[in-house]
Amino acid sequence: MLKRVLLSETDLPDRWYNIHPDLPAPLPGPLNPLTMAPLQPGDLADLLPRKVIEHEFTQERWVEIPERVRDVYKIWRPSPLVRAERLERALDTPAHIYFKFEGVSPSGSHKPNTAVVQAYYAAEEGVRRLTTETGAGQWGSALSFAGALFGLEVNVYMVRASFEQKPYRKSLMRSWGAEVYSSPTERTEAGRRILAKDPDSPGSIGIAISEAVADAMSRDDTKFALGSIMNNVLLHQTVIGLEAKKQMEIMGEYPDVVIGCVGGGSNYAGLAYPFMQDRLSGERPRTRFVAAEPDACPTLTRGKLAYDYPDTAGLTPPLYMHTLGHDFIPGSIHAGGLRYHGDAPSLCLLKEHGLVEARAFPQTDVFDAAVTFARSEGFVIAPESSHGLKAAIVEALAARAAGQERVVLFNISGHGNFDLAAFDSYLAGTMENPTVTNEQIAESLSVLPSPASSV
Ligand SMILES: *Cc1c(COP(=O)(O)O)cnc(C)c1O
Repeated sequence: MLKRVLLSETDLPDRWYNIHPDLPAPLPGPLNPLTMAPLQPGDLADLLPRKVIEHEFTQERWVEIPERVRDVYKIWRPSPLVRAERLERALDTPAHIYFKFEGVSPSGSHKPNTAVVQAYYAAEEGVRRLTTETGAGQWGSALSFAGALFGLEVNVYMVRASFEQKPYRKSLMRSWGAEVYSSPTERTEAGRRILAKDPDSPGSIGIAISEAVADAMSRDDTKFALGSIMNNVLLHQTVIGLEAKKQMEIMGEYPDVVIGCVGGGSNYAGLAYPFMQDRLSGERPRTRFVAAEPDACPTLTRGKLAYDYPDTAGLTPPLYMHTLGHDFIPGSIHAGGLRYHGDAPSLCLLKEHGLVEARAFPQTDVFDAAVTFARSEGFVIAPESSHGLKAAIVEALAARAAGQERVVLFNISGHGNFDLAAFDSYLAGTMENPTVTNEQIAESLSVLPSPASSV
């Protein structure tokens, strides 16, 4: 039995897969935040590199990966695909469990798969400086790494709560040469407005996006980079699933269920979409797709499908997505990358059409799964990724109950080496399970933007 499939660098995909031409229905497009009319590519010209905008709107099924991006990917790609046979034994399940491991990248997650692309195109177009937001620090780290490779100055607006609680992510970003600010800052109008209301604001990803966008808009030499939810980000992440498909083929198996955690949806779409293509084409009509999210931030399971701003101040184009409201501030959970109020529009559409199932899990169940995994397969994985793991375990146990073979594939979006304080809290028995009431959700949903005309 094969344990692990490592492709060689000559097997690295040379194109990304764009799911848009294969979606079961037309995707409602983004809106211009000023006029609420459908967004035109040119509306983004001050904010994003031209090629990134092109990727955002393209309807081409296959998009070529530039040679210089593939060269950087080769530092850690193709990433391993591993059969979790020790976990299978620990669960006493007939299921075959596989994981794709994105924790091998320099910054420790899947995020460099798109950071490298965005930095490359920015540098090619003569941009000198990139701004971005970061929650727990994974995206800020990825962009700092990518910026260093392409000679760009990177400025990161980091959510204050994490800025204070996660000093090592800051060290990592600074090692790659980035500048890191505690958001809300006094540097932008959006930040000053929040601080005037609440000088102790812990910040949020939505606020940090507003600040990074305002900064980028104020300077000609600067563009903005976003680490999830956008079509272009999901496109770049499909390198994960394209590799995984080849690797599963070498294993001689095809997944019955494809699983991942969802913050904004990029690592999950990255793994799932190349398999979803087979489902949509009718070639593999029975493959199931399961997205896992936290109870504390249940966008896919309890959010509303509507237009909403990706950021708190309303500077960014409203997207048609499952949202908890752009003002929503979730309870403090350790999976910082899953504390986001919205999800990628294409993933929401697939969920709406019954092609993706969503599950929400309480925090301690997720860490229980993470510890089971560490004690069987060895890796201490990120709290975010542990949501996908938890869903994979649920599938494996259902297979056991049904006495059924089932091939389960899930994504490990990152390692947990910077999250050990969270594991301490779990092991000490002091970890809490924040949830959210329907009233809280209804309140933050009461301020959604409305489109100019019917869509
Ligand atoms: C950012 C992050 C996530 C969530 O983002 P997606 O866009 O949903 O992938 C998940 N896992 C890790 C390790 C992350 O850093």
